[in-house]
This record gives sequence, structure tokens and C-alpha cells, in this order.
Amino acid sequence: MAQRDYYEILGVGKNASADEIKKAYRRAAIESHPDRGGDEAKFKEVNEAYEVLKDPAKRQRYDQFGHAGVSGSSESNGYNGFPGFDFGSAQNINFDFGDLGLGDIFSSFFGGSSAGGAKRQPARGQDVETKVEISFKDAVFGTEVELNLNMADVCPHCNGTTAEPGYGMKKCDTCGGSGQVVRVMRTVFGNIQQASVCPTCGGSGQVPEKVCSVCHGKGTINEKQKINLKIPAGVDDGAIIRLREHGEATAGGKKGDLYVNIRVKPDKRFTREGDLILSDEHVDMVTATLGGEIEVATVDGPIVMKIPPGTQSHSDFKLSGHGVPHLRGGMRGAHIVTVIVDTPTRLTKQQQDLLKEFAEVSDTRDKKGFWR
Ligand SMILES: [Zn+2]
Ligand SMILES: [Zn+2]
Repeated sequence: MAQRDYYEILGVGKNASADEIKKAYRRAAIESHPDRGGDEAKFKEVNEAYEVLKDPAKRQRYDQFGHAGVSGSSESNGYNGFPGFDFGSAQNINFDFGDLGLGDIFSSFFGGSSAGGAKRQPARGQDVETKVEISFKDAVFGTEVELNLNMADVCPHCNGTTAEPGYGMKKCDTCGGSGQVVRVMRTVFGNIQQASVCPTCGGSGQVPEKVCSVCHGKGTINEKQKINLKIPAGVDDGAIIRLREHGEATAGGKKGDLYVNIRVKPDKRFTREGDLILSDEHVDMVTATLGGEIEVATVDGPIVMKIPPGTQSHSDFKLSGHGVPHLRGGMRGAHIVTVIVDTPTRLTKQQQDLLKEFAEVSDTRDKKGFWR
């Protein structure tokens, strides 16, 4: 018997809101209610339609797959009564699509049956993430650090084979050597065979004649491992270095990767902007006024820098080649020195007198326009 469209039964459009569906249902239910002299079959039909359309998940399934998406067929699930929903009873719930996610189900249905079984993924150990903190200078010049990580390594006793040395491998009893097990699932679409990787042998079809006495068949053991990491010159805070196949080991496969997050400790003197290093240097008023040489700190050690007469506070000076090397190529950026002119705060009587005298002289000169 062909089923009528649920929207048609309730007399609403496909895009009807939840509210519209509710109202339409009430109207139709009252009209068809057997106690009010309505048609019982029609009443059931109305309720069945409403059971589906009131539930957003069921409605979506219905929109997508029609009646097949929401009703278990009576012959497959063995229930009596008419197919479809019977006034809210749970008879048709074989699968909760909402919980599993439609995508998951379909990939396992079709992947499991049409592709001829679960394929064994090449084994690969887990990726490992760690972090290391280095100084500002080490980031500029590069460094080498020793990482100590506790993670799965290849079992040294069996070399990762899982078999005790001197013993070979034999066929896995669980899967008969095929590497996969098949189970039958009952679904709304009928019985479906699903193949999955054999849990005993992990898909290889082979098990050791005698299990390794050290790793007990895991092929790996957890161990503290020392890894030397070369950090390139010019690395910046937040960089991630990947060491291929330095992560966790797994039986019969490659190691995962190791990801190292680089944190650069802030420096008291220097900050960084790309390949520029920035710092402040304090200069006394007289040197700033008359010009001269000052010693400035750089990552290469102290160097002497000339400042011209009349240097204003917060002037920037560029020291080429004293910045951060480019990660590729090694050319170094500049170091920018910001000169801060210090105004003296404590003066002796003599210094005060000299400054006053200076002021008088500059006043006179000012009037003569010397300083302008
Ligand atoms: Zn072992
Ligand atoms: Zn097996």
C-alpha cells in the first residue's frame, strides 16, 4: 500500500513551521477523531504524520529519504501492527540516527558492504606534542636542546614484532587469518554485514606463537626517551617544529611525529619585531647635547655607538647586522636603539650654578638668534 505524503495528510506545505504543523495537526485530529464520528484509519494516518513532522530529526530524515527514512518495515523488525509510528510508541526505534549521526551510519553501511570489508590502515604511532622554553639569545642564534619524553618506544626485546625471540608467528584464531571480523547488524534497511579490523591480531591475521615476555605482545614499551632537538637561528616565539617519526612507536608500523612548541622567554633588555631587535639606551643630557660615543648592549655583546650633537630623547638609531637572522639564508636584520635622554634629578650647588649660568648665556644667544 502506497503511503500518502505526511505533509499532504496534515494539509501543510513542505516549509511549514513547527507551529503551523501543530495547528494543522489539531485541526485534522479533531476532524478525524473516531469519538467525533471521524474515520479511524484517517485518524491514525494523521497521528502518524504528526509523530514524524513534529520531531525535527525525524522530519529531516523524512524530507531526505521519505517514508523509508522514518519507518521500520514490519517484516524486518518483526513487530505487529501497521508500519510506521503508532501513537508515539517506540516500536520502530532500531536506530537512533540523531545519536549516531547520519554520516557515520552511511559511511559504515556503504563502506562496510560495497568496499568488501574494512581495510587495514597502515599502523602508525601517536603524534606527540611537547613544548620547550628557550632564551631570547638562543632564539636569535639557534641552539640545541635535549628533550626528555616519556612515551611508547619500540620494545627492545622483540624489536616490535610482539613475539618472544626464537618464536615465529601463527594464524590468528579469531579471524582465521583474514585480519577482519564480520558482524551482522540489523538496521531499518534490513540486515547489513559489517566488517571490522580483527581486535585480536589488529588486522595482520597473524599472532605470535609465544607473546614477548617484556611488552606482553604490545610491541612497544613506555620509556623515558632523550631526543636532541636542533633549534634554528631566528626561530620566534610560538613556532612549532615537527620531527617526523619521533613520536610514539606502535607495533609493526612507523612512529608518529613529534611536535615541539617553541616558547621564547622575554628578555629584560631586548624585544623583537620580526628580524628587528629593539632596545632602549639611556644617555645623559650633556652627551645628548654635545654628541659623543655611548656603549650599547646588543645580542652580540656591548658595542660603541656614536650619537650626534643635539640628539633628542626617543630618537632611533639603527645598528645594521645586529638583529635576528632570517630562518632561511641567515642574513641578519637590524638592531634599533632608542636613545632616552635622562634629565638630571639630583644636582650639586655647583652644577646648579653652572646650569643657571648656561641658561643666562643661552638666553642672550637666543635673543641673538644663535640657537635658531
Ligand atoms: Zn616485546
Ligand atoms: Zn585476527
